[in-house]
Amino acid sequence: MKIESAFCDLHPNKRMAETNFKIGSRRGFTDEKALRCTRSECSRHYHYDFGYFPFTASEEPEFGNLAEKPSCRLKHDLLYMLLTKIDGEPVYACFHPECTITIPYKSR
Ligand SMILES: [Zn+2]
Ligand SMILES: [Zn+2]
Repeated sequence: MKIESAFCDLHPNKRMAETNFKIGSRRGFTDEKALRCTRSECSRHYHYDFGYFPFTASEEPEFGNLAEKPSCRLKHDLLYMLLTKIDGEPVYACFHPECTITIPYKSR
């Protein structure tokens, strides 16, 4: 679905905002757009190749266990899902425009 607003998976009331994302040590991985939590002390980022992960500029990102993150393979290659809200309830949703898969959000 088309996702109007994305939220932090640790702070489901905080929106994610677009940011530049750079991993210096990765060859071929140049500047890309990512999302980051708008809470100033939160380092949560989102990238469609990695899902949600903590990242501090100039440090190596720790992507964690990708297999445990909500993801979707319907109609397309693997996409990590974004936390959004449907009728006020947080859910993970696939942002592929023709895909309507969602997964209920559980706080950790
Ligand atoms: Zn956050
Ligand atoms: Zn999908």
